[in-house]
Amino acid sequence: MNRGSKPAVLVTGGAGYIGAHTAKALHEQGYFPVVYDDLSSGFREAVRWGEFVHGDIRDGRALAETVEAHRIKAVIHFAGLIEVGRSVVRPDLFWDVNVGGTISLLAAIRDRGVDRLVFSSSAAVYGQGGRGPLETIPEAAPKAPASPYGDTKLACEWMIAAECRAYGLSAVALRYFNAAGADPSGAIGEAHEPETHLIPLAIAAALGRGPALSVFGTDYDTPDGTCLRDYIHVNDLAAAHVAALKADLAAGCFETANVGAGQGRSVLEVVAAVARAVGRPVPHAIGARRAGDPPSLVADPSYARELLGWAAERSELDQIVADALRWEAQPAYSTGARAAGRTVQAAPR
Ligand code: UDP
Repeated sequence: MNRGSKPAVLVTGGAGYIGAHTAKALHEQGYFPVVYDDLSSGFREAVRWGEFVHGDIRDGRALAETVEAHRIKAVIHFAGLIEVGRSVVRPDLFWDVNVGGTISLLAAIRDRGVDRLVFSSSAAVYGQGGRGPLETIPEAAPKAPASPYGDTKLACEWMIAAECRAYGLSAVALRYFNAAGADPSGAIGEAHEPETHLIPLAIAAALGRGPALSVFGTDYDTPDGTCLRDYIHVNDLAAAHVAALKADLAAGCFETANVGAGQGRSVLEVVAAVARAVGRPVPHAIGARRAGDPPSLVADPSYARELLGWAAERSELDQIVADALRWEAQPAYSTGARAAGRTVQAAPR
């Protein structure tokens, strides 16, 4: 693909869910995304904008070659492992890929003309940290990750901050809350395998394509006893990355910003929203709590507005669920259970 005079942005993990939506947003904003992904969980079909380079995030030499070959000036770093539950049983893998991968990326961009890094961090860096269930989380809240996944994200933030101070890189770590929904075009969407996230599992159950949903605990200290999360539309998340790329930061500056809608929704509220969208109840049963789940994670997103001039625009729960349903009814690519159910259509409303 011809990049013309567009600035090239390296997007590690750009064949994954949030990465692909961000590559599309970059393209629409006049950038040339260079997606670097090993396709261990991403999809080649999701790389539709810019160029694709197949590589492992721990391969420093391949990263350096990519930065030089494409004259990369900025990097958005998504590549990493994300399943909280798996991190509890295989912390070694998470430290290797997430922390080791970030070390190799930082080494590859040093002295090669890259002056801006945007990092995929997570609300998992906070854990519950002594907060009440209805309190929103500002960036300065105590960091008490409840899983090795959260530990690795926090460790990467520290490392990136130190690199910024050391040689003048500027960086923004975006702490995502619960990414959900899909691009309304139907071209890209969520396709984790195995799927562990609430909204796709609730949709699959309602469509009769997956098992009944297990609601993980109804005895939390929250209004209806189920966990509260802050669901953010993946297109809003993507827009936050482009804003972070453009933010006016001094050399050496490291910033963190929460990317959430600022609204807590319970598991049962999500179940009700999915039932409304599909036009059928969501078969569900009450299950045990899941290890590593804090009772509530709801962003105070005011600093993202101040720093990035960004705010959520498509993150009403019904909008998120409608977009997720359009994708789940007919995913453009998938494996596992989604692929098996590809022909299942949403019920008419
Ligand atoms: N959840 C649930 N049943 C499921 C999957 C998730 O009750 O099959 C709950 C989970 O305990 C959490 C919320 O839904 O409170 C969102 O979970 P998800 O895995 O989507 O995102 P996370 O908050 O772990 O990043």
